[in-house]
Amino acid sequence: MKTIGLLGGMSWESTVTYYQVINTTVKEKLGGLHSARCIIFSVDFEEIERCQATGEWNEAGLVLQAAAQKLQQAGADFIVLCTNTMHKVAGAIQAGIGVPFLHMADVMAAALKQKAAKSAILLGTQYTMEQDFIKGPLEAAGINIITPNRDDRVEINRIIFEELCLGVVEEGSKQFILGVLSRLQGRGGEAVILGCTELGLLIGQQNCNVPVVDTALVHAKAAALQALEV
Ligand code: GLU
Repeated sequence: MKTIGLLGGMSWESTVTYYQVINTTVKEKLGGLHSARCIIFSVDFEEIERCQATGEWNEAGLVLQAAAQKLQQAGADFIVLCTNTMHKVAGAIQAGIGVPFLHMADVMAAALKQKAAKSAILLGTQYTMEQDFIKGPLEAAGINIITPNRDDRVEINRIIFEELCLGVVEEGSKQFILGVLSRLQGRGGEAVILGCTELGLLIGQQNCNVPVVDTALVHAKAAALQALEV
């Protein structure tokens, strides 16, 4: 079994999900007392979020690059960045390591293909919904991406940073996001992407009548399967 290097803490609420899903997947595949070989480098999210808010992406990229290098030195065979938003600096991380990087967009594209979805509603932070670091690769893979209007993007972003990343799950916020999804229904999304690793704390497949791709779940599962490849 390969050793997974997890770059986590963004926020730690969803890193918990990664750890659970990775170990559950290894247990399902190997049985017995098997569990995943993994190393977690969990950053101080306050520092990373400050860089996001001030636009200091280069600095954040260097912090994550250094953390990824430490994971590699500690024996990680590949690196998993446990957040959609910080894939904005995936290039900086990849440039600093000599082991593979399991990119979120590749995993999402494969999950959408498996569900035969050619278009999808993307929910996430404003960075993820408005910029191209996730949307670009998905569109290049032939998927039409639909995002909420500006007011809805601002409120979803607020829910992520002021509630979910702090472990706060509010019924009103759940209803708000379900309302956004129902308003977008007419625009043809064949799937919904929970493109923020904390959104699964609020909604999931049980709340939607189209396939849901929860990025924390599919990314963690893909990491476990990659670790088990021979
Ligand atoms: N975990 C979130 C994501 O998947 C948001 C936190 C962050 O800004 O990294 O985008």
